[in-house]
Amino acid sequence: MDRPRVGELSPPDRLLMGPGPSDVHPRVLRSMSTPLVGHLDPAFVDIMDDVQDLLRYVFRTDNQWTIPVSGTGSASMEAAVANLTEPGDTVLVPGNGYFGERMAAMVERAGGEAVFVDAPWGEPLDPAAVEDAFDRHQPDIFGFVHAETSTGTLQPNVPELTSIAHEHDALVIADTVTSLGGVELRVDEWGIDAAYSANQKCLSSPPGASPLTLNDRAMDKVLARESPVRSWYLDLSLLQEYWGDERAYHHTAPITNVYALREALRLVAEEGIETRWARHRRVAGALKAGVEAMGLELDPDDDWWLPSLNAVRLPAGVDDGTVIDALLEEYGIEIAGGLGNLSGDILRIGCMGHSARDENALALVSALGNTLEALDADVDADAGASAARRSLKR
Ligand SMILES: *Cc1c(COP(=O)(O)O)cnc(C)c1O
Repeated sequence: MDRPRVGELSPPDRLLMGPGPSDVHPRVLRSMSTPLVGHLDPAFVDIMDDVQDLLRYVFRTDNQWTIPVSGTGSASMEAAVANLTEPGDTVLVPGNGYFGERMAAMVERAGGEAVFVDAPWGEPLDPAAVEDAFDRHQPDIFGFVHAETSTGTLQPNVPELTSIAHEHDALVIADTVTSLGGVELRVDEWGIDAAYSANQKCLSSPPGASPLTLNDRAMDKVLARESPVRSWYLDLSLLQEYWGDERAYHHTAPITNVYALREALRLVAEEGIETRWARHRRVAGALKAGVEAMGLELDPDDDWWLPSLNAVRLPAGVDDGTVIDALLEEYGIEIAGGLGNLSGDILRIGCMGHSARDENALALVSALGNTLEALDADVDADAGASAARRSLKR
């Protein structure tokens, strides 16, 4: 094997407006070049406490069990699903998007049975359909996706859904990957028993330390399991030795990633969580106004528009890959295409965290308008750009 000759690392400078990761604030990047300490160093134990307090603030929860899971959002997702699902449990999962299907796959691997509550992709779950599904299947757990990144759909009526589940003695798991730190989310007030998230979406931290919170009811079920969780790495009854009072070794925490998450969360706290939700609505609102004024449509209804992920219908005859490549190569802007049922039909434009800024919404709308005009699509790029500008001046 010859010695490989690789050049110095120099990734291009992108504007990240896809479904995640989002742009990272310079303060967060700087935090990652601060000295490493051990994962059991008293200094790091203090940092862990800070991260847990800050996570409780962004989740709007008093849950003692609030931690960053080592790994990306899917690790936190699997931690929630695998710990709460005991072999033989029935878990009701959402059929209205890509991530409900991932939830179902995790349920099956944990030895549970996944049953779906159906809704079309691009629409939220209807409480009446959830009620029906409860009567039909008597699930032990109900999982839903608060912000479905594959369709740009926000699930409204969360307290109504959690009440249905609790009337049937079921636990509620919420996927808050694309909502945490970006759109209104109130874990305690809304009756969510367990919520998982990721840090590279609306929190704008590099992927690798993924928020998870469980209330006592959920944790009691985990600690009373008859069979051990099938994943050793994600077993919360073992992880509590590290994140609980003992602070004993379980696995080595991704130290630098925890630094980054702490700084990203500190930025959220400085801004104020409600101000941050409002900023996402304002900036994404300009993006939406611009896209609509140029002659395109958002896929979901306005009633369940998700500011952090805008699913834009492609004009007839335009290939999604061509638009995505042109934005990346000519403007340095990353967006994405549709997943699953919506593949080839939509563009997915994120407006998350540090990417959710006025100048980025304006840049995206102009770049998209120009690109589509160059492809002879029936759009008015100038009308889009001025609508976005006007929306921000309001
Ligand atoms: C991104 C995402 C995930 C998975 O997170 P990864 O960090 O990619 O592992 C899960 N659910 C939703 C809704 C997401 O958007």
